[in-house]
Amino acid sequence: MIKFSDLNLDPRVLQAVAEAGYETPTPIQAGAIPHALEGRDVLGIAQTGTGKTASFTLPLITLLMKGRARARMPRSLVLAPTRELAAQVAENFDIYARHTKLTKALLIGGVSFKEQDLLIDRGVDVLIATPGRLLDHFERGKLLLTGVQIMVVDEADRMLDMGFIPDIERIFSLTPFTRQTFFYSATMASEIERITNTFLSNPARIEVARQATASETITQKLVRVTPSRKDRTAAEKRATLRAIIKAEGEGLRNAIIFCNRKTEVDVVAKSLRKHGLDAAPIHGDLDQSVRTATLTSFRDGRLRLLVASDVAARGLDIPDVSHVFNYDLPSHPEDYIHRIGRTGRAGKSGVAFSLATPSDDKYLTAIQKLIEREIPLSGTPAIQEERPASRSAPAAEERPAGRTTSRSRSRSSSARSKGDPRPSQDAVTEPGIAPEAAPAPESPAVAATPVATRPEPPVDAPVPTQTAPRQDSRPERARPEARRSEGSRPERDRAGKDTSDRESGRRGQGRDDRVVGMGDHVPAFLTRAFPDPQSVS
Ligand code: AMP
Repeated sequence: MIKFSDLNLDPRVLQAVAEAGYETPTPIQAGAIPHALEGRDVLGIAQTGTGKTASFTLPLITLLMKGRARARMPRSLVLAPTRELAAQVAENFDIYARHTKLTKALLIGGVSFKEQDLLIDRGVDVLIATPGRLLDHFERGKLLLTGVQIMVVDEADRMLDMGFIPDIERIFSLTPFTRQTFFYSATMASEIERITNTFLSNPARIEVARQATASETITQKLVRVTPSRKDRTAAEKRATLRAIIKAEGEGLRNAIIFCNRKTEVDVVAKSLRKHGLDAAPIHGDLDQSVRTATLTSFRDGRLRLLVASDVAARGLDIPDVSHVFNYDLPSHPEDYIHRIGRTGRAGKSGVAFSLATPSDDKYLTAIQKLIEREIPLSGTPAIQEERPASRSAPAAEERPAGRTTSRSRSRSSSARSKGDPRPSQDAVTEPGIAPEAAPAPESPAVAATPVATRPEPPVDAPVPTQTAPRQDSRPERARPEARRSEGSRPERDRAGKDTSDRESGRRGQGRDDRVVGMGDHVPAFLTRAFPDPQSVS
């Protein structure tokens, strides 16, 4: 069996690896590191959880050990599709480079340019960035990429999903032709193949078997939710979710609850909190500081339930998650494997519950075809009539975290500055969330009324601007959300069209829901949603 000491890594890197508790290299590490250290380009086909970050970070550090950084000319560049992934690479770098003097800077949105400029001015060995933010710095003349000796592209397939490929091509063309490239993707779509053919030179191709089946350590369970009435679907799904959480008891140490849409993430988190459960949302529309604080408290065990969208949670390495819930079945079957793979890691056991309504059948069929098995049916736990925590409970439960409604901005930012990831106190009701009325009894999922299939509007369809709050019914997936939030450059869709207007239309709905012309003094009833069948309970 190959040992880390066989891999020609610098002794200081080996020491850090030993201190991290790694005993043997993972297959992607054993495969990639020797080629990387020989100076070859590497094409890693591997997904998160395989140890791929160390497979490029360890040789990167070893190779950079000789030489010094010059002002504004980073010696290496690591590109990641989302802020969280970039921050995760930076954390990994800190661990593995702890016995070296190498420096790094993290260029992501949500952090002031000034701070980042200062670091770059001093000269860094490793620059870790999201593509949009990197180009923003470049265009401001603060950065030269001509000193880049090694460039890493992580999660290229995710970059493709998010519309970043033109940026990646541009960044490639700004770096020296002689650079060494480490390129990682979980899949090899034809567009990715084209990029690798264009920008990689005779790469060593290391492929780690794609996970077509979920780990054996994960117990998968399917819970059928048959709504008593079409307009009760969401409420009954939430009641079912709570009932499962309750039934799992102490065995459920913590859980990630996946929803398909950002609005649903907010609604489910709010509902769980209203029912006295410790939950917080994470998705791409939340302020970066809130996202970071929420993740930190989940990792640290201070937050029990993380309600997440795929984009926000993809690739995140949270080692010890006891349960995963598919509150919504994913519409892309591979996402099922990614999602449930958040639990049952490193040989630990985990449980993955999936809620399925009759209208989810087509997704269920696709998932079961992919994993080549049926997800065992679990009995629906008894749903008791519950009363949400009383209205006099802290109003902090009233609004999803991080939304910057004008009335709450100052208070929410002060809460955030104290590192509190939880929602701030505010009486403004969130769009799509009806004001809390007397709790409607939760009816058990008994009747077999067919439920209409959820609409799946086109991802990039223009969204009309409207003043009345409405639910964003588009799935978060594949929207270039990171690009929108990363910088000041005009937004373009994958076809290169300017999308700034429609994005600002979305912003009007999702972020700042003032009624134009009324300033900040909006009577509370005007900000409330009309009674909505999806109202939170
Ligand atoms: P990644 O695929 O890079 O997201 O890594 C997944 C997890 O595996 C991270 O928590 C790493 O700390 C961990 N890891 C990476 N390499 C090893 C190794 N050789 N042995 C044990 N754990 C590892």
